[in-house]
Amino acid sequence: MAQPADTARTVILTVDDDPGVSRAIARDLRRHYGAGYRIVRAESGESALEALRELKLRGDLVAVILADYRMPQMNGIEFLEQALGVYPGARRVLLTAYADTNAAIDAINVVDLDHYLLKPWDPPEEKLYPVLDDLLTAWRSSDYRPVPATKVVGHRWSARSSYVREFLARNQVPYRWYSSDEPEGRRLLEAAGADGQRLPLVVTPGGTVLVEPDAPELAAHVGLATTPTADFYDLVVIGGGPAGLGAAVYGASEGLRTVLVERSATGGQAGQSSRIENYLGFPDGVSGGQLTERARRQAGRFGAEILTAREVTGLEVNGAARVVRFSDGSAVAAQSVILATGVTYRQLRAPGCDDLTGRGVYYGSSLTEASSCQGEDVYIVGGANSAGQAAMYLARGAKSVTLLVRGESLRASMSYYLVQQIEEAPNITVRTRTEVEAAHGEGHLEQLTLRDVDSGATELVDAQWMFVFIGAAPLTDWLDGTVLRDEHGFILAGPDLTPDGRPPAEWELDRPPYHLETNIPGVFVAGDARARSAKRVASAVGEGAMAVMLVHRYLEQS
Ligand SMILES: Cc1cc2nc3c(=O)[nH]c(=O)nc-3n(C[C@H](O)[C@H](O)[C@H](O)COP(=O)(O)OP(=O)(O)OC[C@H]3O[C@@H](n4cnc5c(N)ncnc54)[C@H](O)[C@@H]3O)c2cc1C
Repeated sequence: MAQPADTARTVILTVDDDPGVSRAIARDLRRHYGAGYRIVRAESGESALEALRELKLRGDLVAVILADYRMPQMNGIEFLEQALGVYPGARRVLLTAYADTNAAIDAINVVDLDHYLLKPWDPPEEKLYPVLDDLLTAWRSSDYRPVPATKVVGHRWSARSSYVREFLARNQVPYRWYSSDEPEGRRLLEAAGADGQRLPLVVTPGGTVLVEPDAPELAAHVGLATTPTADFYDLVVIGGGPAGLGAAVYGASEGLRTVLVERSATGGQAGQSSRIENYLGFPDGVSGGQLTERARRQAGRFGAEILTAREVTGLEVNGAARVVRFSDGSAVAAQSVILATGVTYRQLRAPGCDDLTGRGVYYGSSLTEASSCQGEDVYIVGGANSAGQAAMYLARGAKSVTLLVRGESLRASMSYYLVQQIEEAPNITVRTRTEVEAAHGEGHLEQLTLRDVDSGATELVDAQWMFVFIGAAPLTDWLDGTVLRDEHGFILAGPDLTPDGRPPAEWELDRPPYHLETNIPGVFVAGDARARSAKRVASAVGEGAMAVMLVHRYLEQS
């Protein structure tokens, strides 16, 4: 007997309007193929098509479809024609009475029929199974493997499609991308009953269809936790970059009931780095995604809860409790808090950029979009390490990469090893003293106006892809009125709160704030969000660990 490639979810579907015949053929199929395949039976073309669409959305495979020719409303050929649109790779068999053989022969052309079987098919050992065995063997050697991953149908220049891809990629959720104007994308849209006006359409491995989902909806459907399991914790960590993950690993491993809250995807900036070369213990470098995914699993193994797609918008003090409020108004309380909110890419202010964000203008999405710019010309704005890493990464597939830098040279702003790599790359050009004056395009980026900073001369260039890395700023406005920050929004802690040797005015304890402690006792800061921090992965992780040590000290004394 033929064995399927993926036994659990591979289907043989049979449709016959005569219930007796339908049951008989299903019984014979089950007897011979039941151990390896799921036999699905329908009694009309419409219900068989409905079954196929459901199977499609769930990501199941259909190896063979057997259809009776004479059925009311929709005959077997009409049914197979439509089934072809849903499962083009399934082998197609028409069951006919002797009188219908001409129709069957015609169908060989119309629906690319693989075989027609004359009724009755007894004994099946002679007439049915040998035919199906051959068809199953042929099907298995074709390229219709299972796709258990989440499916995203979207458009190349749709900002929301780009956002959803990035969200899934950064959260390490496997997904397959289908362009809405390609046949398989169209098939999925049709199976979901969608007209493609609202994209992206996401189909989960369980077959649930989400149209233009936002981050919390997406997170909840792809298995990411979004809700805390308790009301009160020892420690709430806000931010899931290296500092927050470090704090979660150390907090949970040292017995603190810990929850980490991340607004988009764990990994933070580091998760967007194609290669971190200077992190201790990785002599050959490590991708930021790999490093932070390991940290995430490590935190989970120690019992830290990790909530994704939850943005924190408020921090309140309620006696000994520190209350962390989410954007939907709900809250979670803890004895202590570590702020590890890092920094966010600064936006390019040139006209046109806002409208074209996600449609050719990207901030830090180089890893997700790289496959789309294969063989294309790419512009990167920025002269620091993040821009340099992106240039090296994109240059692997792009036709050309042009780095637009305001300064005199890269050497002032980029690590030596990266400057060397860029100089050696044949398809990377560096344009110094150049800035973007405007971005243009209908629906997606088409051109850029570049300006020479010294002469003021402008030049219009064709461009479809621009990645912007022009520094970053902390997003800490939500801490107004509670946590003290410097003039750029970076959070003040420890010695920075006591420049003249005295703690801030409202400080009520008879000790000064600990090293990473903010002006609110029990609320600490770690990583890039802290004023005068090192802006490195290693230091962020180190500060996360150190903040936990200070949380212990705080809890012992309170
Ligand atoms: C492309 C790139 C390459 C880099 N390469 C290197 C390198 O090679 N070596 C190196 O040492 N450093 C590198 N860095 C710098 C390094 O990644 C950062 O210093 C480090 O990630 C800082 O960690 P963090 O946890 O403090 O902040 P972040 O990494 O910024 O993480 C902060 C997290 O907090 C979340 N957050 C923010 N606000 C909220 C909120 N209100 N509610 C919930 N969550 C919130 C954010 O979504 C984010 O995930 C690179 C940075 C970039 C962008």
